[in-house]
Amino acid sequence: MLVLNSGSSSLKYRLLSGAERLASGTVERIGEPGSPVADHRAGLEAVAARLAADGLGLDSPELTAIGHRVVHGGTAFTRPTLITDEVVRGIGELVPLAPLHNPANLAGIEVARRLRPDLPQVAVFDTAFHATIPPAASTYAIDREVAARLGVRRYGFHGTSHAYVSREAALLAGGPEANVIVLHLGNGASASAVSAGRCVDTSMGMTPLEGLVMGTRSGDLDPAVVLYLARTGGMSLDEIDTLLNRRSGMLGLCGDNDMRAVTERLSEGDPDAELAVSVYCHRLRKYVGAYYAVLGTVDVIAFTGGVGENSALIRERALAGLGALGITVDPVRNARGDTLVSAEGGAVKVAVIPTDEEFEIARQTLSVVSRTNRG
Ligand code: ADP
Repeated sequence: MLVLNSGSSSLKYRLLSGAERLASGTVERIGEPGSPVADHRAGLEAVAARLAADGLGLDSPELTAIGHRVVHGGTAFTRPTLITDEVVRGIGELVPLAPLHNPANLAGIEVARRLRPDLPQVAVFDTAFHATIPPAASTYAIDREVAARLGVRRYGFHGTSHAYVSREAALLAGGPEANVIVLHLGNGASASAVSAGRCVDTSMGMTPLEGLVMGTRSGDLDPAVVLYLARTGGMSLDEIDTLLNRRSGMLGLCGDNDMRAVTERLSEGDPDAELAVSVYCHRLRKYVGAYYAVLGTVDVIAFTGGVGENSALIRERALAGLGALGITVDPVRNARGDTLVSAEGGAVKVAVIPTDEEFEIARQTLSVVSRTNRG
């Protein structure tokens, strides 16, 4: 099985046999000035060439399916879906909701379908895991007619990661019935509340801008700030879009969006880095408290993503002061990055679980292909 994660300027791939990784990599700088990779077709040809060099051609008869990551499935796609012309059209219709991501995902799908029209290809949507969120959590309190006409509601993102990590976390708590809070902290960041395998709330909304403080995104903000920046600040909508999505978050607060650089500056006593980390961790703690309340009881809090998996400091500071909720972090286990970093006897397990989105896409692709074959 081949998994393709096609972004605006990159193409990540993994070739798997069952759970075993045969090959993986990233083709970068697609379509950028001076890049040898002009477009997604050239990108996929580069992938094919790399695989062929390893004796694993894209034309191999042993390839049984291709799984594609698609960012936005809207309300139309709430499960992994066998790709047909109609599905391609449906993904295209969602471009207004994900103008940067869905066209790139589609480019990958179109090229792969042209290269291997004989193979089943499956779209796995970032939003799908959040389709179970009840209306109380997915509905914005705005005029219902406007919201319905324009599809304004909370969809949530990073779904394949939340699905994978919440399932692994539940195993640590003894079974699939567990209540789990997942904190996916990468460049983008999101939290989710998962009960017995079903997502019941998540921090990203109609777009990935809502929720936690991220590398370059603000996360939660008084919506009137946008109006104020336009009316009083004289900024255009595109300028505000760029400000909130690309120049905010850790970058906006301290000038660095790479958490390694930020925590290094923090250890040198840099006050901007200190403020940025305290805003980042305060927001995380608020979401943990909120999702504790949403779930009623919590069995596991799972950290994942580049920051969540690697930064003991962020894990410790995000959960500081939550002992009354049974949430404690053991400093020694945390510094070692053990799978379980909670203190012995804590009511809530705190876990570090490396995410594996490509594996999850392969798993979901396989489930569709075997269902189709049976049918
Ligand atoms: P993406 O969202 O692009 O997939 P990742 O999940 O790979 O991102 O996470 C990238 C982030 O992880 C970066 O901000 C990087 O600084 C951070 N990171 C990686 N290793 C460490 C570390 N040892 N300490 C702190 N942050 C780290």
